[in-house]
Amino acid sequence: MEMINQQTEELIEEVLYLQKSSLLRLRNTSAAERILKLKSIEKYMLDHKQELFDALFADFKKPSSEVIIAEMLGVKREIAHAKSHLSAWMKPQKVGTPLLLLGTQSHVLYEPKGLCLIIAPWNYPFNLAINPLIHAIAAGNAVIIKPSELSPNTSAFIKKMISHLFDKSEIAVFEGDASVSTYLLAQRFDHIFFTGSPAIGKIVMRAAATYLTSVTLELGGKSPAIVGPEVDLVSSVQKIAWGKFLNNGQTCIAPDFVFVHEKVAFSFMEEMEATVQKFYNTENNGIEKSKDYARIVNERHFHRIKTLVDEAISEGAKIIFGGEFNEEDCFISPTLISHCTAEMRIMQEEIFGPVLPMTTYKSETEIVDYLSGEEKPLALYVFSKDDVFTEYILTNTSSGTSVVNDCLIQFGHTELPFGGVNHSGIGKSGGKYGFIEFSNQKSVVKQNTNLLKNFYPPYTFKSKWLIEQVLRWF
Ligand code: NAD
Repeated sequence: MEMINQQTEELIEEVLYLQKSSLLRLRNTSAAERILKLKSIEKYMLDHKQELFDALFADFKKPSSEVIIAEMLGVKREIAHAKSHLSAWMKPQKVGTPLLLLGTQSHVLYEPKGLCLIIAPWNYPFNLAINPLIHAIAAGNAVIIKPSELSPNTSAFIKKMISHLFDKSEIAVFEGDASVSTYLLAQRFDHIFFTGSPAIGKIVMRAAATYLTSVTLELGGKSPAIVGPEVDLVSSVQKIAWGKFLNNGQTCIAPDFVFVHEKVAFSFMEEMEATVQKFYNTENNGIEKSKDYARIVNERHFHRIKTLVDEAISEGAKIIFGGEFNEEDCFISPTLISHCTAEMRIMQEEIFGPVLPMTTYKSETEIVDYLSGEEKPLALYVFSKDDVFTEYILTNTSSGTSVVNDCLIQFGHTELPFGGVNHSGIGKSGGKYGFIEFSNQKSVVKQNTNLLKNFYPPYTFKSKWLIEQVLRWF
């Protein structure tokens, strides 16, 4: 970790001062004004598409098609969704009146939280900085964004875009490593939206406790894919391979390991190998030459993943295919590993790379027993044609999100809450849930009568009788 310089510290203080002074103006902006800001982000992103492709390629050879699918499309969809619904979200939501409070009228008012900090990771560095920003703007907040130092080209793109579109008294970007986050986290914010690892999530939550700042923690973990005995194997394998190897396995909701019913285990392995060849080796030049296959972000992560694989092999796991490593280019080939056991580190730590450990099972109770002893994952995927099997898994396991017969698609669903549970995250994002996360849901009760005066002291014989009746009848 480098040392933050004094100039950055002073700039942060200045921005915080300016943003605090803007809060009253921002909270009074209309839906139309906020939508204009969102549109300007969309326009900039589309007008500078090639620049964004270049930045993400320079960061870790992300293919431009994956930039479109997994970085830009999500931003475009979130903006479109907010454009259609923001006026309705911002309206005071009327609620019914309980009998006890007869004569009152009440509603929920969505007010901006105020000064917000967004700390973003490197794996989808554009999407995961801008999606929360969309919700923060929609809710009327001022924002500081700290993008990741591990994707410096995309972070620079984000800084350039935000400086071009917004005054720093409203939205500002501070690039840099943990020293910048640490300095920011020591300041007083009204909300912190963090996306990253559970380990750093704990640091963020501890820092937030100083001012009792609310937090959204979008974290990671080990998301299982479960392949049932009755399954459309070809299609399931394609979906698992796509979910696992997209972005080189560096996706928070990628299937991290797979449980395969022993009846289909052999066919699963054969089909997975054939699918990987079809995806990344069509010209028979070797997967390393494929333009559609990204790289591990840096050498530290390359070695971390290699050590996980080496350890597993030394403890009895077997490579079914893959297992090729090229340090110079941070290349790891798509790898399937069998004979993995619960004690192995590869089955304990989030892999975040193109390595898929598999274990086989005979009965679905084994899966439920296994998962009940682990941290609750961010995602759980079930592949089955049998509804009873699927229902059994869904009702007996806990996860932040779940998908039946596909992978990753939940992230693009603007009507569903996205987020983890306990170790995989706190709070939700996406669509209205993102807007709510950046809002204070203020309850407003308007009293139109004075009926309650009958319950004020002094407690006479008559009022005591009345109070007794309330307990009896309400
Ligand atoms: P990370 O936790 O290492 O870093 C995330 C951010 O925190 C970066 O901006 C980094 O600069 C900052 N940071 C690093 N050390 C810090 C410290 N000591 N104090 C304060 N801030 C610090 O995560 P990463 O490697 O960028 O991303 C990978 C992780 O993120 C994986 O665990 C993955 O599952 C998770 N993730 C989750 C989601 C989600 O939506 N739930 C999405 C993407 C990634």
